[in-house]
Amino acid sequence: MSEKFVLATHNPKKLEEMREILSRLGVEVVSPADVGAEIEVEETGSTFAENAMLKAKAISEAAKLPAIADDSGLCVDALNGGPGVYSARYGGEELDDRGRYMLLLNNMRGQTTRAAHFACAIACVFPNGETLTAEGRCDGAVAFAPIGTGGFGYDPVFLVPEKGKTFGQLSPEEKHAISHRGKALAAFAEKLGTYLGR
Ligand code: IMP
Repeated sequence: MSEKFVLATHNPKKLEEMREILSRLGVEVVSPADVGAEIEVEETGSTFAENAMLKAKAISEAAKLPAIADDSGLCVDALNGGPGVYSARYGGEELDDRGRYMLLLNNMRGQTTRAAHFACAIACVFPNGETLTAEGRCDGAVAFAPIGTGGFGYDPVFLVPEKGKTFGQLSPEEKHAISHRGKALAAFAEKLGTYLGR
């Protein structure tokens, strides 16, 4: 039997990624648009886990189906964990990815403590109110200048020490194997498999 799950995202790449991972469990992943549940959910939580849960709950209630949502961002030690849950909005709506990472480099100028990590939280809410959660984290450092053109967001300024490269220099497969999202997705697939008895 194939169950339908709604993934709370407008991002076709995320949809494709989740489809591929959950198809192994016989789970069908659809978008909010596919089931007429396109609602805007404000990310008012103070943690990635809270935001993921807010989105999954709202979409599950709107679609009357199990819903999955994720939230992620970059946490920089020297910025007290910022931009964190504000990663996508850092510097205001008018900045693009490059504008945001250049602002980050500016705000880190003269800072020798460069430690940072990416974090990703996934939440799944079922119509009966039951929930599943998973998290992933990738430790690294803020580079002194952007390197590499791969990926998105802060990838060109996130250095992975054991690779000696930024996320922006890794292939999608290399990044997925060590990234916060890759780890959270693997943990989530495992938990969902157990929950569904597969
Ligand atoms: P969201 O979870 O898709 O809302 O992403 C939040 C924001 O965090 C993105 O807009 C990026 O700025 C940043 N971010 C999350 N994951 C990554 C990543 O893997 N690489 C670079 N930036 C990321």
